[in-house]
Amino acid sequence: MALFDSKKHQLTIQRKLLFGAILMALFVGVLLSVAQQIAQQSTQQQAEIQNQAVRPLVQVNALQSLIYRIRVTEVNLHVESDFFALTAATEKLSADIQLFEHSWRAFIDEFGDGHDRQVRSIDDNWQRLKSSINKVIQSAVDGQIAEAFRLSQFESQPRFNVIAKDLEILVTQIEISTDGFIIEAVAELESQQQRFLLISLVGMLIAIILMIWFSRYFVLRLNRMRQAFFRIANGDLEHKVDVVGHDELTALARSFNAMQEKLADRQTALTQARLLLEERVKERTKELKESNLKLREEVVERAKIQQELKVLSLAVSQTPVSIIISDARGMIEYVNDAAIQASGFVEEDLLGKSAISLIDQQQTKKASFIDFTQALNNDQEWAGELCATRRSGQSCWEAVHLSPVTTTESEITHYLIIKEDITERREQEQKLLYQASYDALTELPNRTLGMERLAQGVINARRLQHKLAVMFIDLDGFKNVNDSLGHDIGDQLLIKAASRLLNTVRESDVVARLGGDEFLIIMPAISEQSDCFPVLDKIKHAFSETFQLAGHSLAVTPSIGLSIFPEDGEDGAILLRNADLAMYQAKEAGRNTYRFFNHQIHENLTMRMQVETQLKSALEKQELSLSYQPIVEAQTRKLVGVEALLRWNNELLGPVSPDQFIGIAEQTGLIVPIGNWVIQTACMQIADWRTQGLRDLSLAINVSPRQLHGDGLGAVIDQALGAANLNPESLILEVTEGLLIRNPTEAKRTLEALKELGIGIAMDDFGTGYSSLSNLKNYPFDILKIDRTFVRDIASDPEDCALISAAISMSAGLGLPVVAEGVETEQQLNILADMNCDRVQGYYFSKPLAPEEFLLWVKDYQSSDISSTNE
Ligand code: C2E
Ligand code: MG
Ligand code: MG
Repeated sequence: MALFDSKKHQLTIQRKLLFGAILMALFVGVLLSVAQQIAQQSTQQQAEIQNQAVRPLVQVNALQSLIYRIRVTEVNLHVESDFFALTAATEKLSADIQLFEHSWRAFIDEFGDGHDRQVRSIDDNWQRLKSSINKVIQSAVDGQIAEAFRLSQFESQPRFNVIAKDLEILVTQIEISTDGFIIEAVAELESQQQRFLLISLVGMLIAIILMIWFSRYFVLRLNRMRQAFFRIANGDLEHKVDVVGHDELTALARSFNAMQEKLADRQTALTQARLLLEERVKERTKELKESNLKLREEVVERAKIQQELKVLSLAVSQTPVSIIISDARGMIEYVNDAAIQASGFVEEDLLGKSAISLIDQQQTKKASFIDFTQALNNDQEWAGELCATRRSGQSCWEAVHLSPVTTTESEITHYLIIKEDITERREQEQKLLYQASYDALTELPNRTLGMERLAQGVINARRLQHKLAVMFIDLDGFKNVNDSLGHDIGDQLLIKAASRLLNTVRESDVVARLGGDEFLIIMPAISEQSDCFPVLDKIKHAFSETFQLAGHSLAVTPSIGLSIFPEDGEDGAILLRNADLAMYQAKEAGRNTYRFFNHQIHENLTMRMQVETQLKSALEKQELSLSYQPIVEAQTRKLVGVEALLRWNNELLGPVSPDQFIGIAEQTGLIVPIGNWVIQTACMQIADWRTQGLRDLSLAINVSPRQLHGDGLGAVIDQALGAANLNPESLILEVTEGLLIRNPTEAKRTLEALKELGIGIAMDDFGTGYSSLSNLKNYPFDILKIDRTFVRDIASDPEDCALISAAISMSAGLGLPVVAEGVETEQQLNILADMNCDRVQGYYFSKPLAPEEFLLWVKDYQSSDISSTNE
């Protein structure tokens, strides 16, 4: 809607005002013209008054004064004695007479009408006076003073009086007529004035009425608007102004209403906005409260953290560990007291310096240095050992831990470098490392280092696609040297042998001592198996010469087993094992020779693996059983005991001999549960036999070194004996010498602990291993069992015979009974009996038997000749 019709209504109030002003101007014009008329009339009347009243009066007055002057001059004329004065007076008189004559005529012409009687009277008397005066003049001139006087008194005087009187009447008449005229004029003027006043009053009244109407018209509307404004001011937006008329106020009212509508809209919007705002304020207040609470918690937390930080800061500053904090570029910003002390520098020297500059680059491993700098550049954590330079120029080794310090936004701002002086430890470690890596005797790398080099060699060979040869060297007959000439000579022999081996290989090859008389040579880069031959020749040649030691000339030869990477194994351990196996082949082939790992060995290995796999479930599948071999007193042939021997009949492999699986069970640890089963089963078997009348039988059970680890075996035995209700004395544990060699101290402790249970302990297989009789003294053995390999040739081999004899006499010295194994013939039995061997065991009496067979055998035996030979 157009608020204001600009063409139709533009400036309507203005027009109204203009119209009013024009009306006022017209009114004022009328008034002015009326006033003008009145003024003109009044002027005309004044002029008329002047013409009609004032001028006749003035002229009459002038005639009066002229007549009186003439009279005076006439009267005085007769007293004028002086001629000249008389002349002057007569002339003056004549002039006045003429003037009067003239003025009188003029008066008559102009105003004579209406005064006819006086005019005639005056005219008449004037004529007579004039002649009387003339006579007086004449008499005076003639010197007839008296005459003159008389004439003046009697003739002129009456005429003069009449004239003077008539003039006065004239004056009175004129005055009377003038008064009427003036009264008329004044009345006229007054009526004019009244008209003027009336008009003015009427005009004024109309103007006032118009103005009142006009102002009321506007003021009313303005008031309405004012009230509307007032209401708006008070917030009432509902009330609208009445739209009246077609002027600016109308437009204003419309504008106002429009404005009001808009305001109402705005207010609605504002109210909504306010409500929204209030809502938001509420929400915000709630949020603020929550954040306030959080803030408070944070403040408390901060205070706690600050306290912790303070403590931490003190701790960092006072900790004996060197702490350095660098900026993100590695520039040192903080060093604690320990770091200052350790470096020898003053704090100022260190601050601002690069953390890298503290590293002694020459001493530090290149890889460590690169790792450290890379970690520092790549925001990584790093821990390692670095060599640092002290102020004194000395170097020291430090265990360094570098860790980036990150903000919650994962921005790295600092690095924390914690350093610990490990110079002493490192020296110690180096020493230990050397000791751990090198053989103290030969100064060759030991087994550990040898294996490391081998592993490294394998990696390189794989990378470069080379072959690699592993030589397992065992010195033949070394054990004899050791046993017969003592350990010192043995040691010297090993040193020389090592040196000879070293001389046979290239610098790139590795020679290590694996232990005892076993050496390892690694040839890291060969192209084929035959590349080993020159070295093998050299070794053979080097050992062809005897060793001269302490006046002894010793012939010691090597047995060498070789395995080749990658054909014979993918890793060092397998290669070494296969070389070892090959070495045994060489030994078996008569010693002082070499053997490459071959197919047969491999098959054995496969078999071994199968055994290993199957053995795992043997117990569970109840594939294991025990056979019992009788042990008989050599002299009386009396059955005194049994040896329980394990049997395994596998569904896949068939019967597997103990020699094939015991070692594997030992290596895999399966021997422990199997061994426990053996002890329990054997004990129960003895108990069973007892019930069947077989009393006083000792039970020998074989135990492996692995079973003797820890304290578990004692408990198992104890429990088994208890369950079978057996005396501990009836149980003998058979252990081999190997146990003593590996860990003598522990072996001794374990054996002593077992002995405390009251059981007996036998040294089994004497003669096959180290065969040191001194062990009999040093360990708590109760029985010595001579291996069947010696018994086998007892009749033909004097050496074996001597060894058995020596063993028997030594045992006798120690009060230990001897059991000879593998007695197959009566001859063997007799020799042993003659040697005062206490007990025997072998096929001569019986093979190991299943329990029920054993009972039959016992019956047979006790009724046979053998058992009663010597009885
Ligand atoms: P060992 O303890 O020396 O047992 C004697 C071995 O000699 C037995 O072999 C036995 O059958 C055999 N033998 C006995 N008399 C003669 C003979 O006159 N001639 C011949 N040629 N051999 C005879 P076996 O049963 O094969 O046992 C071999 C080895 O296995 C045992 O040697 C023992 O060291 C080990 N062994 C057997 N059973 C167990 C066991 O339960 N636990 C442990 N740890 N080892 C066992
Ligand atoms: Mg045995
Ligand atoms: Mg044996």
